[in-house]
Order: sequence, then structure tokens, then C-alpha cells
Amino acid sequence: MKRHVVGIDIGGTKLATVVADSTGHILNKVRKPTLAERGPEYALQLLFDMVRETVVLAGLEQKAISAIGVSCGGPLDTKTGIVYSPPNLPGWDALPLKTQLESEFQIPVTIENDANASALAEYRFGGGRGYNAVLYMTMSTGIGGGIVLDGQVYHGANDSAGEVGHQILVPDGPRCGCGKRGCLEALCSGPAIARRAQAAVRKQLIDGNASTVLLDLAGGRIEDIKSEHVLEAGRQDDVLALQLVEETAYYMGWGIANLVNILNPDIVLLGTIAIAAGDLLLDPIRKTVSEFAMTRPAEAVKIAPAQLGDALGDLAAVALVV
Ligand SMILES: [Zn+2]
Repeated sequence: MKRHVVGIDIGGTKLATVVADSTGHILNKVRKPTLAERGPEYALQLLFDMVRETVVLAGLEQKAISAIGVSCGGPLDTKTGIVYSPPNLPGWDALPLKTQLESEFQIPVTIENDANASALAEYRFGGGRGYNAVLYMTMSTGIGGGIVLDGQVYHGANDSAGEVGHQILVPDGPRCGCGKRGCLEALCSGPAIARRAQAAVRKQLIDGNASTVLLDLAGGRIEDIKSEHVLEAGRQDDVLALQLVEETAYYMGWGIANLVNILNPDIVLLGTIAIAAGDLLLDPIRKTVSEFAMTRPAEAVKIAPAQLGDALGDLAAVALVV
């Protein structure tokens, strides 16, 4: 009786394997450091062992497992299951991950990039339940995204759809990790918010009118100011922090409005920073979206925090195979 699945979450710092039942309920989890510097052969062998260990700890035999879902940083090819040099996994160059797992375990393996898998998990188990068109956007060290339409991840021509963070909003703006300038990610990711906050505090100090709690929250060091401090100071009604939150919401809302016009989603679910910020950030984002998007798609869309929280990585892999 094959009623269970294995989910594998591959990150640059940690690997996780879970066993779940057919409803997505997670029975067991094993977590180990990736040790990415040891290369893919080490990580693969470790993953094989972890899968077996997780199945045993769940009290199951391997024949009870019907499929394996893998959530991994892209770029990757979902059809061939080949992973192409993710920035956080050095040496994973054209690695045939799907084939290797299938030949090891003799069951079907589905591979998806982590943002798409997360979007599918939110659609199946989280804030996207009951909707047809779901857009999920991460908001952490980068801004990634996944689009689920009518229950399917939208992949595009070669698995490159959903790069919502690299829409250019300010052509002469700050440099982005992708090499272009003024991408949404270069304006609203955690590090981007921190950079803008640091510059604003530096300017206050130079102008001789420092009036923000941001510097105190960061222990007195400008270079230690992070996006978390901006949110914390914003909650204390710090004027500069609220300006930074407004600015972030303005760019996020602008970027989301573009996507709302193109995709007409039922719901946009925002991760990490938006979850931590709540309505402090979401309300001004909603306001900008309603101003910038076309009336009908703007009326239809809900903008909400993603719901799966810490379980997202595990459920992302599981969502691919249940
Ligand atoms: Zn970019």
C-alpha cells in the first residue's frame, strides 16, 4: 500500500527530508547541514541516507513510499530534472538530480524550484486554498515568486517564469544581484531595505539632525541596521522608519500592481518580511496596488501574508507529489 511520499528540501545551508501521508500531513523530519563546499556527491549520498532514515523513523518500509518531491534552488529544468548551478550550491553544474534519485529509489521524482514549490504549497495547504490564480512572492534576502494558475505551477518556456523580483522599476536605481539596475529586488529585499535605512541614517547624522531610534536598535553601528530594525522602529512610530516602510510599500505595491494587471490573481501571498511586518507594510502596499493597478483586477485581488511559516520548506517539497 503506497500511501506516503517523501519531500526533500535542498538549501545552501541545510537539507531536510520529510515523510508525509497522502493529505500532506508530515510524519517525520530529518535535517542536516548541506556542507555545500563538499560538493554535490557528498550532498547526494547524504540525501540518500537521510531519505532512508526518515522512512525508518516514520515506522514505514521503503515500499510504502510512492513518490519523492524535491524543492531546490534554481535554475533547474523540471522536465529533465537537471539542476543548473544554483548560486547557493557550488558545483551543482548540470547535475541530473531527478535521474540519480530515481535510480537510487526506483520511484518517480518531481523536482521544482523552491519559489514555485512554495507557491504550490501555499495553494494546496496555506493562504491560497480555494483560489484559482495564486501569486506567491518571497520577501527575504531576495524577491522570488511562483505563479499557480488553475492548480498548476506556471513554468513558462524554460522554467523561468515567476521572476517577479527582477522587474525593473527604477532604470538608474541601485544595482541588483542579477546585474541590472533598479529591480524590485534591489529596492525591497531585506538587504535592500537595510541599505536604504543605513543611507538615510547616515544622511541624518551628516545633516546634524539625527532623530531616529534605528541606530540604537542596531547597537550604535550604522552598518548593523537591518530590515528587522526598520520594522521594529516603525512599530514605535519612528518617523524615519515609517518613511522607509512607506517607500518599501510603494515599490512593492508598484511591482505587484504590474503583476495584478498581467495575471489577474485572486490572491497575492507575501512571505517573510511581509509576515513579520503585517499590516504596517501590507496596508500601504494594498493602497499602492489599488492606485496603480487597473480597476477590475485591483478590485478582485486580495493581498495577504503567506500562511505556512516555518513549515513552508517541508510542505513545498511535499506539495509536488500529493
Ligand atoms: Zn534583478
